[in-house]
This record gives sequence, structure tokens and C-alpha cells, in this order.
Amino acid sequence: MLLRMRSVLQFGEQPHWRLTRDISHLLSGRKEIASFGQLDVDLTAKQAAGSQVSGEVDVAGSLQLDAELVCSRCLSLSKQTLTIPFHERFTEANELNQEEDEEEDEIVHFVKEDQVDLAPYVDENVLLALPYVPLCDEQCRGLCPECGHNLNEAQCECKVERIDPRLAGLADFKFGGSPQSN
Ligand SMILES: [Zn+2]
Ligand SMILES: [Zn+2]
Repeated sequence: MLLRMRSVLQFGEQPHWRLTRDISHLLSGRKEIASFGQLDVDLTAKQAAGSQVSGEVDVAGSLQLDAELVCSRCLSLSKQTLTIPFHERFTEANELNQEEDEEEDEIVHFVKEDQVDLAPYVDENVLLALPYVPLCDEQCRGLCPECGHNLNEAQCECKVERIDPRLAGLADFKFGGSPQSN
């Protein structure tokens, strides 16, 4: 995935990358990812609009990954397809623009040679897009803290039911009050 800056900026080419990338070096060893496929990469580079002076290259497109994630509440596996938008800007470094322009909303990567390997930028975008706390469902009820039963499947018999906090006082009253130490 080599981007040649000059082919885009001087010859107006719009190189396209459509490939699959093995990202096991990124994901293996992560406990919340039970299995994963290859990363589908679909990117196009072109001269950034209105950048004749600064000479910026826009690389945009999307990354897609099928993965089986471990729910952080109930530990069940759920297959998910992550679609990750990709947009990075590159410009050739020279003495005038070595400093990152902090007024720009977008970060522009300065490139010292004509060729840029896009792979590290792809990998970084994947890592940033992975859910920090994967869930099988937003409403996942998790496991019973007492018996470990998956509460999405059925309620268990344990007494540590999830009592609505508004009714907790009522429950104390009903069962004769428990000297809770909190
Ligand atoms: Zn779950
Ligand atoms: Zn239980």
C-alpha cells in the first residue's frame, strides 16, 4: 500500500487500493476478540480540493472487518461487522511547513520521501475503531453475580435479583429490614 505523492500531485493520478490485509499482528492476544477475518481495504488517493499551493493528498475510503467479539457483560460471542471510515491527509514536508498547522481541523501527515506506506495508518484506524467494551447488545443483562447464569436466557433462582433502586427500601421493609452496611 504505497502512496506515491508525486504521481498524485504532479500527474493527477488517483490510485485505488482494494485488497485484503492480514491484521493478526494487531488483534491476536486480545481477549475481547474471539476470532476475526481479513481486513477489507478500499481506499482512493487524490489531490485534496483547493490544495494546489500546499500540495496535499487526500486518502479516503473504508475498512471493513468481520470479527467475533466477546461481550464484556455476559461473555457470549457475537459476530459483528465493523465498517471503519478512513480519511487521512498527507503533504510533502519542506522547510516552510514542517510545523503541524494547529488551526486546521484535520491533522496533516508530513511526508519526507515520495513514498508513504499506508499500512500503519490503516492499522491505527482499526485499533481506534475497536469497541473498548464490546457488548452483544446494548440491553445485555449480563451474568448473575451469584450463580453465573446468563440472564439474557432466563432469570435464575438466586435471591440477588436486580431490585429497582427505588423499591429497595420497600424490600427491606418487607423482609424485616436488613442491616446493610453501606
Ligand atoms: Zn452480553
Ligand atoms: Zn443466579
